Amino acid sequence: MSEEIEHVQCLIIGSGPAGYTAAIYAARADLKPIMYTGMEPGGQLTQTTEVDNFPGYPLGVTGPVMMEDFRKQAERFGTDIRFGYVSAVDFSSLPHKVIVDDIKTITADTIIISTGATAKWLGLPSEQRYNGFGVSACAVCDGFFFKGQDVAIVGAGDTAAEEATYLAKLCKKVYMLVRRDEFRASKAMVHRVLNTPNIEVIYNTETKEILGNGKNVTGVRTVNVETGAETDIPVEGFFVAIGHTPNTGIFKGWLDMDEVGYLKTIPGTTVTNVEGVFASGDVQDSYYRQAVTAAGSGCMAALDAERYLAAKEHDVKVV
Ligand code: NDP
Repeated sequence: MSEEIEHVQCLIIGSGPAGYTAAIYAARADLKPIMYTGMEPGGQLTQTTEVDNFPGYPLGVTGPVMMEDFRKQAERFGTDIRFGYVSAVDFSSLPHKVIVDDIKTITADTIIISTGATAKWLGLPSEQRYNGFGVSACAVCDGFFFKGQDVAIVGAGDTAAEEATYLAKLCKKVYMLVRRDEFRASKAMVHRVLNTPNIEVIYNTETKEILGNGKNVTGVRTVNVETGAETDIPVEGFFVAIGHTPNTGIFKGWLDMDEVGYLKTIPGTTVTNVEGVFASGDVQDSYYRQAVTAAGSGCMAALDAERYLAAKEHDVKVV
């Protein structure tokens, strides 16, 4: 490990909508934030095509362009944005210690964690090939593009159930591919799915391949896990809703998490169980998972960090 130790008032980990919004607010509050982008600068949105639901873009925008706009705005107020990966943390004493790229040590008065979550994928080459061209992991983001068309969704949890009913309002027909003979989703959600006339649930079914014409998705090849029978279903859209993994591995043992690994915060705040450490965006939100909600909680994290520092300076106890 190198001897170089740098001290910062506010360290932001992650560069999605939450991290950049935290950076804009922290920089404007003169906290001189340093941001480490992680291995995927811009986060999940750089993997999407059109974003039509972020306020302020009346004509829509692509995910990568929007994240570039976020970055420029954060830089305009002086955020020091660095490409790098936080490989370990030590929250045992103040100031907190963070190791970047296994070699550099940073100490920080406040840390805003915005490392996001990663959608799980089936792992099929065709899924990767048509990602953004009919394949999506977010019905709320992309369902609109399949208005009046037929789509399939894979998954049987609450997310899949919720997204299937969301898609059913927009699409002609929704095929729901469930790999076992039952749902994992709650009874109420299953009830909603089964009572939506244009959702057809296909049990005991796995996805073998996503079919396409080289440009767009044209169908899905399914396989019945009991009989081995294969069926091609023509669809224009294919939605994957098999869960997300929050990017919290390095915080295990330091921060309180739920059973899946999402960081726990005091409701209505971004405050974690460790003083001076705040969490914003999808890393602490398995429920809404939208760019705009992530951005909102990034703003909250910067305000929480600023107020924490101010209270500390004046020796006032805060949550
Ligand atoms: P879950 O982990 O609950 O469910 C994932 C689903 O995907 C399971 O049904 C699983 O099948 C299926 N799956 C996993 N891998 C594959 C695969 N390779 N092929 C086919 N199917 C696969 O994730 P969710 O995102 O649905 O939910 C996460 C959490 O968020 C849950 O606690 C949920 O209750 C909560 N949530 C609550 C909501 C609400 O209350 N309105 C809305 C959305 C989420 P199997 O069952 O066979 O393992």
